[in-house]
Amino acid sequence: MLQHKARIISWGIGLSNGQAELLRRFLGEGRELILHPDVASAANMSDKGPAPYVVWISAACCRDMSRLPEALSSYGYPAEIVMLLDAVYGPKDFDRACDYGIKEVLRPPLDVERVSAIMLRAVESRAARLASDRFTEALLLERKTLRRKTLALGFLTDFLAAVGQNLNTGDLLQNAFAHLGKLLPVHSAHAALVETGAGGEKTLSLYVGLKENSADFAVCRDLLEEHVAAAVPGATYRTGKIRALPLSNAATPDRPAGTAAPLCLPLVAGGASLGCLLLLTDAAHVLDRDRASALDFAVRHLALSLRNAEQFAAMRMRAEYDVLTGICNRRHFEELLGDEMQRLSRHGRPLSVLMADVDHFKRVNDTWGHRTGDAVLREVAALLTGGIRSTDCCARYGGEEFVILLPYTDADEAASLAERIRIRTAEHVFTAEGGVPLRLTISFGVSGIGPTETLSREELLSAADGALYAAKRQGRNRTCRARAAFRAATRKAG
Ligand code: GH3
Ligand code: MG
Ligand code: MG
Repeated sequence: MLQHKARIISWGIGLSNGQAELLRRFLGEGRELILHPDVASAANMSDKGPAPYVVWISAACCRDMSRLPEALSSYGYPAEIVMLLDAVYGPKDFDRACDYGIKEVLRPPLDVERVSAIMLRAVESRAARLASDRFTEALLLERKTLRRKTLALGFLTDFLAAVGQNLNTGDLLQNAFAHLGKLLPVHSAHAALVETGAGGEKTLSLYVGLKENSADFAVCRDLLEEHVAAAVPGATYRTGKIRALPLSNAATPDRPAGTAAPLCLPLVAGGASLGCLLLLTDAAHVLDRDRASALDFAVRHLALSLRNAEQFAAMRMRAEYDVLTGICNRRHFEELLGDEMQRLSRHGRPLSVLMADVDHFKRVNDTWGHRTGDAVLREVAALLTGGIRSTDCCARYGGEEFVILLPYTDADEAASLAERIRIRTAEHVFTAEGGVPLRLTISFGVSGIGPTETLSREELLSAADGALYAAKRQGRNRTCRARAAFRAATRKAG
């Protein structure tokens, strides 16, 4: 390896002209000798220059050389100190040399071999010292790098474990944000996701990790909308739900305002843009290379998990919901009914089922066409779901037939509810093709089961169906209850 040639310098302190001249000659070419009259002048040197390899010091100056070690120590490299004796010397000079730790003492006359040997030793020991310093430096660097890599690796392991097992978008983001705070100082974390609905329509969902009444909430919402437009170019979507994410432990919203800088990370999975993350981090914080690549990897992984979550939600939607009306389908309803019936005896509360069928619906199709028929079915679904609690479930049972599951509701309460919805529907003005107003009615069949009664799911449904049939037979636009005789027969003995 090519190296810049180091200057090889010695100091001469308190030397006579003769000693200085001889030394210069013996040191040879390229070896510099800087002369100082005494220790104080060497110690006070303003322009320090490179560290001396050897200090040649006269015996006279050795009487007070207390400042010399301090002056030399500031160079960071040790120098060999050599005492040069004059013509007159005594045993005291040797004692002093020993006291100050002087390793070498030269008696007059100076000879070239001793001077060269001392210089050579000094040069070799400096080279060894430099090599060991470089080695230590490399080791420290390696240790630092290793620590950084271990940190990044530890973060990734935790992150992947936290994000890997989840199929719920909100939970996924919350888990991810809780871990990102370990990699960089996150004030608050947010996300914008373009989600595709069952009909292919795109909705932008914003997840804002700040309280909705906080001053920064609107700022973050605007930033997200701005960034997602850049992250998902060309997509047409409408802004849907804005969900407030609970603040994670790692997020530190109480940092001083004005020190945060937005970091926008696009979410891309399989070449498709899903949206972006927005992290408000310390403006002054610089990510090292390992952390930056760990963050990049984590965000890619998160994007994949978010895409899986979206696909899972879409699959569930298709499996459990009716495409035309958006309410539950028959299969999902029957699952829920089964669950509720199992819970029935445990909670000691009743449960009821309403079956609804649109009266003379065929006429709507025949008169106004299927499109109007479909629109009417959607409106009927909205009227039914609008009349129930969030714990109830309304499903499309088939064609123009709907069913409502009412947990914790007895048959009397269920019949009253059916009546309210029936009256509201009869008063409702539907709209046919071309804006023509349309009136419709529905018939209801009600069946209920108490906590002490035994009835299968099928029996409960067929009881409601029988009651609905009775309502039709009796002239429609009415609510009928399952036969009392039928219900009495099912009552548990004792
Ligand atoms: P009732 O009062 O006895 O119930 O008479 P109705 O005409 O409502 O009953 P019917 O069973 O004779 O006719 C139901 C109609 O519902 C027939 C079918 O074409 C229509 N239908 C079923 N599913 C859909 C749908 O998804 N969209 C549309 N537009 N019509 C549907
Ligand atoms: Mg009908
Ligand atoms: Mg029908």
